[in-house]
Amino acid sequence: MYRTHTCGELRLEHQGTQVSLSGWIQTIRKFGSITFVDLRDRYGITQLLFGESFNDQLDAQPLGREFVIQAKGTVTERSNKNPNIPTGDIEITISEFTILNAAKTPPFTVQDDTDGGDELRMKYRYLDLRRNIVKQNLELRYRVNRSARNYLDSRGFMDIETPFLIKSTPEGARDFVVPSRMNPNEFYALPQSPQTFKQLLMVSGYDRYYQIVKCFRDEDLRADRQPEFTQIDCEMSFVDQEDILNTFENMMKHIFMEIKGISFEDAFPRMTWDDAMEFYGNDKPDIRFDMKLVNMNDTAKGANFKVFDDAELVVAICAKGCAEYTRKQLDELTEWVKRPQIGMSGLIYARYNADGTIKSSVDKFFDEEKLKGWAAKCQAEPGDLILVLAGKEERTRKAMSELRLEMGERLGLRDKNVFKPLWVIDFPLFEYAEEENRWVARHHPFTSPKPEHIEWMNDLSKYADIKANAYDIVLNGTEVGGGSIRIFQRDLQEKMFAALGMSPEEANHKFGFLLGAFEYGAPPHGGIAFGFDRLCSLLGGSETIRDFIAFPKNNSGRDVMLDAPSAIDQAQLNELKISLVK
Ligand code: ASP
Repeated sequence: MYRTHTCGELRLEHQGTQVSLSGWIQTIRKFGSITFVDLRDRYGITQLLFGESFNDQLDAQPLGREFVIQAKGTVTERSNKNPNIPTGDIEITISEFTILNAAKTPPFTVQDDTDGGDELRMKYRYLDLRRNIVKQNLELRYRVNRSARNYLDSRGFMDIETPFLIKSTPEGARDFVVPSRMNPNEFYALPQSPQTFKQLLMVSGYDRYYQIVKCFRDEDLRADRQPEFTQIDCEMSFVDQEDILNTFENMMKHIFMEIKGISFEDAFPRMTWDDAMEFYGNDKPDIRFDMKLVNMNDTAKGANFKVFDDAELVVAICAKGCAEYTRKQLDELTEWVKRPQIGMSGLIYARYNADGTIKSSVDKFFDEEKLKGWAAKCQAEPGDLILVLAGKEERTRKAMSELRLEMGERLGLRDKNVFKPLWVIDFPLFEYAEEENRWVARHHPFTSPKPEHIEWMNDLSKYADIKANAYDIVLNGTEVGGGSIRIFQRDLQEKMFAALGMSPEEANHKFGFLLGAFEYGAPPHGGIAFGFDRLCSLLGGSETIRDFIAFPKNNSGRDVMLDAPSAIDQAQLNELKISLVK
């Protein structure tokens, strides 16, 4: 028997017990003639004490960090207790040990506070995974997984697997493709999500489906995106939007209670997409703090200040209590908005001083009375600072949304231990893709327009106004899930494909199976998918989803441990009838 107990299990009450432990050596300390070893496994760390009688054996066969050993001995009370670990009251006085496997000196220290850089730890991910911190993240992931499953199971959802080798129908992101040896010149695609399958399952009558499933998207990698990621994917029949929001709001509440012990008494707030854009400048508002965007077009234009007069949008935020920002701080903020990522040419500010006076960076154009008008519009009070951006509408709104987040960060208003979920609803059905010169589906082409807007699909000039029965769930400024009520009639689905610029032939070629299915009794249905990695990272209080994935890719989409992607040999290429471009 390799072990009677784990390295996290023994306490003072076990004193005198003969035990056997197996694990990895975390540290070795020699004190005169005795040697202390910290032995680690998944469950914790236990101190081993090798007495003087082992010295010859240890000299002949020295132990090293990360050696795997089995040690037998007696549980003894420590004279020097360690209150920081659960096993800190005891140690094992060793009577016998075996080296099960020696180890090379690890390339970094396998401890919470490691000396290993990112890339090195990715290369030796199996060592990194031994670290407590990483292990706790995976444990959290597993708990979230169980919690979601238990909830869904209790509500009658059925886990049904859907295929990974499917047909390429790029719409949204690019597909990863897989060549087929038996069908030369033909390719499978890896699913970007099980979207069409879960809809087909609804047609088949499995009215509550879920799957915790890998999805693959060959996107240009932005920071903290993974080419393969996991969704909690769900679909329901005979429901309207309200049923879905309730069901999945309750799932979130269930997870929060189980994982964080947090209970949300009230319903999650809901905000329309229009309001989110207007007051927060983006569709995933961080509502942990207020500082809403204020449209200043009416208040600020017409004072002969060209920057405002020429702008499509003049927009402000009020930073509470920041009137005392120094010149240096304001210059630095100005530089911040001028960074290429933000792209503004300047920042205008007005300080509403504690004594009631207002001074702005554009006093030449705006006297005190006008500035009081700004303050009124922004609901600023003495002691506040008004920050204003002006320019092209979209870019300016986006920049202000970034500045708002930055100010929230600087003012400590974005506490990662505070959780503020939010439903964003009434998304537009379409968005205009400048590069492609056409309207694309904002969520995906299976999303249902609001019934009252269906007729606008005949009128191009109305496309921007058509709203969908689509919703996102946002947590602390991050989208953690999104879904929609689906189209379930063939003619409406055809209309939608046509609106997206697909000819009937193309629509049939790509989605004939779905259009066909809609003719055999498709029930009204809708669903949602949660970004599981992201949800875990938020619950774990971390910014990076990589920390919550056992074997993640790096920021360039590479697995540096496997060294993938990589070339394949000529024989494989021949079999696949693929020739490489030089
Ligand atoms: N399949 C969608 C996605 O991956 C989610 C949904 O509409 O249920 O975003």
